[in-house]
Amino acid sequence: MTELTAQPKASHFIDGAYVDYASGKPFVSLYPATNQPIAHLHAATDEIVEKAIAAAVRAQKEWALVPQIERGRILIEASKLIRARNDEIARIETLDTGKAIQETLYVDAVSAADNLEYFGQLVATMTNEQIPVNETSFAYTLREPLGVVGAMGAWNYPIQVAAWKSAPALAMGNAIVYKPSEMTPLTALILAECLTEAGLPAGLINIIQGFGDVGAKLTTHPDIAKVSLTGSVPTGTKVMASAAESLKHVTLELGGKSPLIVFDDAHIENAVSGAIMGNFYSTGQVCSNSTRVFVQDAIREKFTDRLVERTKAIKLGDPLDPDVHLGPMVSKAQLDIVTGYIEQGKAEGATLLCGGDTLKLQGFEDGHFIKPAIFDNVTDDMTIAREEIFGPVLSLFSFSDEDEVIARANATPFGLAAGVFTKDLARGHRVVRRLQAGTTYINNFNLTPVGVPFGGYKMSGIGRENAAHALESYSQVKSVFVELGDVEAGY
Ligand code: NDP
Repeated sequence: MTELTAQPKASHFIDGAYVDYASGKPFVSLYPATNQPIAHLHAATDEIVEKAIAAAVRAQKEWALVPQIERGRILIEASKLIRARNDEIARIETLDTGKAIQETLYVDAVSAADNLEYFGQLVATMTNEQIPVNETSFAYTLREPLGVVGAMGAWNYPIQVAAWKSAPALAMGNAIVYKPSEMTPLTALILAECLTEAGLPAGLINIIQGFGDVGAKLTTHPDIAKVSLTGSVPTGTKVMASAAESLKHVTLELGGKSPLIVFDDAHIENAVSGAIMGNFYSTGQVCSNSTRVFVQDAIREKFTDRLVERTKAIKLGDPLDPDVHLGPMVSKAQLDIVTGYIEQGKAEGATLLCGGDTLKLQGFEDGHFIKPAIFDNVTDDMTIAREEIFGPVLSLFSFSDEDEVIARANATPFGLAAGVFTKDLARGHRVVRRLQAGTTYINNFNLTPVGVPFGGYKMSGIGRENAAHALESYSQVKSVFVELGDVEAGY
């Protein structure tokens, strides 16, 4: 096999330009299919973090004064540049994450571009409130930026996560310092490159590389006004505690253990499609995945047979082959976590219906491949029913009654997503109203269009990304009271 590389021009993008500092801790990005390095980078030192934040502080002051329509125009222009580079970004995203090219060609850069385009347009239409007070006075509101945003992202959707935070933040007149996961450091740099080429002034988007300690610096720095994290619950609690010291605004997009409820009147083939896409897409490394699939007794056998049959037909292999459905897990460490849960599931008495074994594919012997797994006879108290696995592992549960299944679906500290398959739409609406989750689906699963708010209830997070809610979360409201009459004083 020819050697695959995706070496960026430099490790960091600060103040409008690529920069590298060899003094930072060296690290590599590995192609998960071969475990070979595709890029060599350096983590940010304290000095680099300071440089990035200082550039952001300086640039943000002027950016806040730029008219909304002009800010939006730059984001829209950047979205076009990203779309024009879609195939290049998809290839890099596949090399960085191991996700199949048949996903990255249609989802990752596209979602980033949609986000920039959407917020570019939306910010231009944003107006403020005018509130009558009495005959001679009124008030109006100003929605103002927060300042500099410090953000950290997970490794499953690198350019998407970077764009979901940058686009609304920049639209509202903020600057951003973004740290990608050290496992997938590459495409956030391309986002910064496209925004800069589109006319974004230097210093407004800064990408700094590094490990958790670099992210942690952003959560305590006095010049950071808001922290936004996409990551796990344990990191989320640390970030929030650390940001609390200086009362920074916080958005947290965290993990989940989402339920999918399939009633016995459901369209079975569609429900199976929902369960498959809600568990195995991106090799199961999706925060909102429906890892707990509850199936009503009468259709259990039929649903399970079809699910297993279709899951066995999923094609694993070379992520760059357009016919391959699933690539490897992102890392050996993540593969070990997943196989550990599979062993635990078996040990606690669940029945493994298919998959779960690791694979040594020819030409990819060092890749982190694992066959999508389905467990049956899972009980609510088992470890695989309670903890986020973040891999291609689906658990099946049976139920008979609507009230019972809602109670069991809600019996988790997570609350990211939830879904219902039923032909009875009254029941669909009734059930999702009772499900404790930030994003719910009736007769589909795991869609995240930019116009729909996305985020978690309970331990799955705080705040919302996408839609107008994101613009609100990257801004603060100032009320302006105006008196047109005389000012009365009683003494
Ligand atoms: P982590 O929580 O381990 O890391 C997320 C990011 O935070 C990384 O960039 C990480 O750096 C950084 N980080 C780690 N520790 C700190 C700290 N103390 N302060 C500041 N930043 C820190 O998550 P993963 O990367 O492992 O991603 C998987 C998790 O993300 C899953 O739980 C998944 O559910 C969740 N997720 C949530 C989504 C959502 O929208 N709700 C979407 C996608 C994933 P480093 O990588 O160097 O440790």
